[in-house]
Amino acid sequence: MRLSRFFLPILKENPKEAEIVSHRLMLRAGMVKQQSQGIYTWLPLGKRVLDKVNAIIREEQNRAGAIELLMPTLQSAELWQESGRYDAYGKEMLRIKDRQERPMLYGPTNEEMITDVFRSYVKSYKDLPLNLYHIQLKFRDEIRPRFGTMRSREFLMKDAYSFDLNREGAVHAYNRMFAAYLRTFTRMGLRAIPMRADTGPIGGDLSHEFIILADTGESEVFCHKDFLNFDIPGLDTNFDDAAGLKGIFDKWTSRYAATSEMHDAPAFEAIPESERLSARGIEVGHIFYFGTKYSEAMGAKVQGPDGKEHTVHMGSYGIGPTRLVPAIIEASHDENGIIWPKAVAPFEAIVINMKSGDAACDAACETIYAALSNAGIDVLYDDKDERAGAKFATADLIGAPVQIIAGPRGVAAGEVEIKDRKTGERETLTIEAAINRLTSGN
Ligand code: ATP
Ligand code: MG
Repeated sequence: MRLSRFFLPILKENPKEAEIVSHRLMLRAGMVKQQSQGIYTWLPLGKRVLDKVNAIIREEQNRAGAIELLMPTLQSAELWQESGRYDAYGKEMLRIKDRQERPMLYGPTNEEMITDVFRSYVKSYKDLPLNLYHIQLKFRDEIRPRFGTMRSREFLMKDAYSFDLNREGAVHAYNRMFAAYLRTFTRMGLRAIPMRADTGPIGGDLSHEFIILADTGESEVFCHKDFLNFDIPGLDTNFDDAAGLKGIFDKWTSRYAATSEMHDAPAFEAIPESERLSARGIEVGHIFYFGTKYSEAMGAKVQGPDGKEHTVHMGSYGIGPTRLVPAIIEASHDENGIIWPKAVAPFEAIVINMKSGDAACDAACETIYAALSNAGIDVLYDDKDERAGAKFATADLIGAPVQIIAGPRGVAAGEVEIKDRKTGERETLTIEAAINRLTSGN
């Protein structure tokens, strides 16, 4: 992508409304624009990051055996009357009427709708286990939308729903998602800690929130420091192996971890003080097993191996991609801007032409830009007619992990500089060596 043809509306000034660093940087880097309170446009730079976050989520959901579909944002109130949540959900639900005066709503979550999909088609235990997910916008009329897309009213959620014949199957389904979540967040450069959670209005008896530690987090959390070193399930994780998954679950729940709602102070204080971690955190995911709460109310049954009808056991599993983007920034930035982990970077590299219009600089940059693009690297080429200082500031702000800097003096000697955004280390290489370095991935 050539910057001169991209749409990157960078803000020079710090936006007053931004209280936390991720919100400030997302606005300054032209990633999002607020349209009305808690409702955002994802501008092209932000959209690129969001797409990469979603791609990782999708890969790990698929690996764990979940199957993607897409449900609508608007739902009929009737479904929610069946479960009893139409009245129970309260003011967070945006209620709408269509032209026939039929009550509709903008979905805050999809348990009812997925249960309706399930009951329409699945009649036998032979079609289980089943886990269906989508990545779709939700709307919750939050009392205090704040911190940009961290707590917005319209936001994206990956929500998965599992269906099993009995509790045992449902616990296996839960553990699949538990392991998949650990893998998902790690791939984004985050360490998420599963914490015992309150099941809230969704109901049920087994639930964990996945929390990223961050000073600006809205939750107060308490856990054992061992969580910082536990191993993440590898690529070879067998999601069909119920005992193996239980082993992962047992390990990751073997130490104390709870949010303030579930906090048990005496249990926490029983841990030696030097091993206690009391901090703030951001909830990026939440998983629930809630048994037959919706299947019972909505008649989702299958015929079991015994020939009898069984009400299915369900779980639901949420991740907030539009919250993860600021969470990643909270975890990875410095005073000059964002430092993207490579896996979610909007551009893996940026080529900075220090003197656009200078024939030699232009030629060197074009060569590098073409070579990296052809190698399948997401590269941004700053070909704009701006002074070098402004270009460096932009590159640091938008946070591409690698910068390739071409100036007249270096290019005359056949050389460019490579700067690592994270460490700030610079190295001078020949143009060819720079291309080789980046295309060989080390
Ligand atoms: P919170 O406690 O932060 O309000 P929640 O418990 O209401 O979240 P869930 O219903 O568990 O959220 O939704 C699943 C995921 O969706 C959350 O873990 C979070 O990542 C994301 N999410 C929920 N509400 C919002 C929001 N208002 N803005 C952005 N993401 C959200
Ligand atoms: Mg929650």
